[in-house]
Amino acid sequence: MISQTAIGHLIEKLGAENVLHEKEDLLVLGYDSTPGVHHLPEVVVYPTSTEQVRSAMEIARREGLPLVPRGSGTGLSGGSVPVQGGMVLCLTRMNRILEIDVENLTATCEAGVITLDLFNAVAEKGLFYPPDPGSQKISTLGGNVMENAGGLRGLKYGVTGDYVMALKAVLPDLSIITTGGKSVKDVAGYSFKDLLVGSEGTLGIVTEVTVKLIPPPRDKRTILAYFDDIRLAGEAVSKIIAAKIIPSTMEIMDKATINCVEDYVKIGLPRQMAALLLIEVDGHPAMVAEEAEGVKGILEAVKAAEIHLAETAEQAASLAAARRTALSALARVSPTTLLEDATVPRSRLAETFGEIERLAEKYRLKVGTFGHAGDGNLHPTVLCDERDADEMKRAHAFYNELYEKVLAWGGTVSGEHGIGLAKKEYLARQIGEGGVRVMHRIKQAFDPEGLLNPGKIFDEGDPCTKPHVEEGFRVSH
Ligand SMILES: Cc1cc2nc3c(=O)[nH]c(=O)nc-3n(C[C@H](O)[C@H](O)[C@H](O)COP(=O)(O)OP(=O)(O)OC[C@H]3O[C@@H](n4cnc5c(N)ncnc54)[C@H](O)[C@@H]3O)c2cc1C
Repeated sequence: MISQTAIGHLIEKLGAENVLHEKEDLLVLGYDSTPGVHHLPEVVVYPTSTEQVRSAMEIARREGLPLVPRGSGTGLSGGSVPVQGGMVLCLTRMNRILEIDVENLTATCEAGVITLDLFNAVAEKGLFYPPDPGSQKISTLGGNVMENAGGLRGLKYGVTGDYVMALKAVLPDLSIITTGGKSVKDVAGYSFKDLLVGSEGTLGIVTEVTVKLIPPPRDKRTILAYFDDIRLAGEAVSKIIAAKIIPSTMEIMDKATINCVEDYVKIGLPRQMAALLLIEVDGHPAMVAEEAEGVKGILEAVKAAEIHLAETAEQAASLAAARRTALSALARVSPTTLLEDATVPRSRLAETFGEIERLAEKYRLKVGTFGHAGDGNLHPTVLCDERDADEMKRAHAFYNELYEKVLAWGGTVSGEHGIGLAKKEYLARQIGEGGVRVMHRIKQAFDPEGLLNPGKIFDEGDPCTKPHVEEGFRVSH
């Protein structure tokens, strides 16, 4: 339990307006966007500088309080839920874009900058920051870095980590480090920035991020295809890639998702279709025209039921916006929305759709599937009610069996949402106990007292003390 003295010290260092400790203020900060996980923090702080982050960490250490960094709380694996109570440190008031460097093609931001704000700010200078998670209107850059977030443009442009050039972070020993820089090449020792990317707030608190920018594509074209059978959509994705065409976006929605999205945004999506693919090709105008033709040819060959070219930029933007509403649209249907993050090699997509259908039937569940098909990254979403214990048991069995197949096919249990709390039980199944043990040693090297975001990624207790079994393990990223 946090002492009144510690609250007094926090107020002294951060200002009363940046410290919340009344229960009614704390309630909403015990959640992120993951269903079924909630825990009340004892105090929430909103630092406005790196120095204040350090001061808050010093007080948490002194008081023995778990310290949980938080961006906007849009995470889908429970990462910013303070499962052991303690202090939540929310970065959203560190939201200044510090520099857009057009000579070096970089932008430096505080960690609480909203992803879309960065995109818009660099676009005004004729530059492009590609990572665009579906949550880009609310997620923070720090949260994106910590989850190594992907997005709709991931297929061609990669994920957040591909754009991180430097990070400033406060480590659990209270040191402030800057790792990386604006040089495009840097191999001086271990790459700590790459270790911090995707570390889910367990190794350090990121306060500043420098990202790489690129010139925007000169042209783009959006193609929408509908299918009578979702497996044909999976086949189309594999064939487009095999034809050496890399669209910037290749997003899928199944029938249940099409219907929920249509109920929500009412743009005339055909409700009877089994699936739709939203495809965008971009680049030099000549290449765009050629690739759009190539994609159209493949869609015809796999017998898409309908193929449409977006006629205007507004039409294309409204289709992408509709896709971005998929999760919110599904979430309106039932009290609980369990969303997963299964990712397979693209050649396995058609089989994965078949498996999702088979398992939904076997476990009598309502499942809507959408996702970044071009990345093999699907979000099979169970629409259920957490008050129904039997349904929750069946949902768990559904994902359990699905992940068995995904792993057997060389896939991963998380393509972009991270392990957090939600996937802990699956991590060792993918990377083996040896892999978990190595991760735990890294955690101990940074944070021997287990101050930062305890209980995330792996359980408490030291897997390093278990009898050492030599085994090969897969490094997941
Ligand atoms: C509608 C919707 C659509 C989404 N679409 C996508 C998508 O397309 N692709 C995708 O990858 N994800 C997606 N997500 C998931 C989520 O938006 C991302 O994981 C995002 O990166 C989280 O950012 P956040 O600011 O909300 O972080 P939070 O949820 O607050 O935190 C995420 C994790 O990072 C840690 N953390 C946050 N900030 C810091 C910091 N500065 N320093 C250290 N640790 C920190 C937290 O402790 C936690 O472990 C979606 C979520 C929603 C609700």
